[in-house]
Amino acid sequence: MAKNSKRTRQPLTEEERAARRERDRKLAQDAVQQLTSTDGWKAWLKTRGAFRAYSLNNQLLIALQRPDATRVAGLKRWLSLGYCVRKGERSLLIWQPVPPNTKQLKQWRDAGADPATKPRTRFKLGPVFAREQVDPLPAPAQPAPLDPPIADLTGEDLADAWAPLTDLAATLGVTVTTTDAIPGDGRYTPALKTIEIARDISVNQQVVALTHELAHALVREDRRDDDPTLTYAREELVAESVAYIVARGLGFDPAANSIPYLAAYSEQTGPDAWQQIAALTDRLAARIENALHTEPGQPGSSAAAVPAITPTSDAHPHGREAIAA
Ligand SMILES: [Zn+2]
Repeated sequence: MAKNSKRTRQPLTEEERAARRERDRKLAQDAVQQLTSTDGWKAWLKTRGAFRAYSLNNQLLIALQRPDATRVAGLKRWLSLGYCVRKGERSLLIWQPVPPNTKQLKQWRDAGADPATKPRTRFKLGPVFAREQVDPLPAPAQPAPLDPPIADLTGEDLADAWAPLTDLAATLGVTVTTTDAIPGDGRYTPALKTIEIARDISVNQQVVALTHELAHALVREDRRDDDPTLTYAREELVAESVAYIVARGLGFDPAANSIPYLAAYSEQTGPDAWQQIAALTDRLAARIENALHTEPGQPGSSAAAVPAITPTSDAHPHGREAIAA
């Protein structure tokens, strides 16, 4: 049985609790630290594509502990989906909500039910397993299908995405046109508020190019006070990362090689700044995903085949749970 899922009725000693807090703190710190390397950023991007409904903190924890993971769920959840965790597999830890128990709620009600002191849901690190660690249960169990469809980059099945994306551009005051007059796949011109997309590429490639240019537009037009200031190289990294995330959500497996990591990483920055850049990337991708109505579990979403695995308690908004200080 996996180590982290060991059940114990014995309350932890003070020492054990301190050790666990230290472990949690270190894990959370390492999860953010990984963003400071190109490989760590890649691992997060890949994870973000598959775990879009998870908070940034949990995406980072999964990327750190199991960068190949495409789904995670607790033991019981896997059983209800028709899978069992293989013997000897070690769990990974992610933040999970711990709602107040009935006793706490009763005490609060008995004390006058003051809204200001209502017991709140806390988060603690709890064990989950990746789909790579489970096997389908034998019949009569009917394991839920887990593989999202993979779309062809040269195809036209994303034609429906064009209208919602141009609508999103319109809400930013940006006009989208197709043209033969640009060198690459797409171009955003802030001064004119225009996005031009190449006419001679496939529809699916046009959609990917449009998400890239939309990310550039959102960086400027959807700016928040606490957003990091981006150099040219970093804005390019954000735009390409957003396009990558959205494409994966739409069922592609785009090449991550085109992402201009090197230039962005040649500029020295600490983990906090990278976490801010990741949070911005995550938010802009979510904005485009929401425009496409590919909520987790909807057709077109990477989670389409397994809506039930996405824990609703960990849905948007992102980053809700605090990393334990
Ligand atoms: Zn760009």
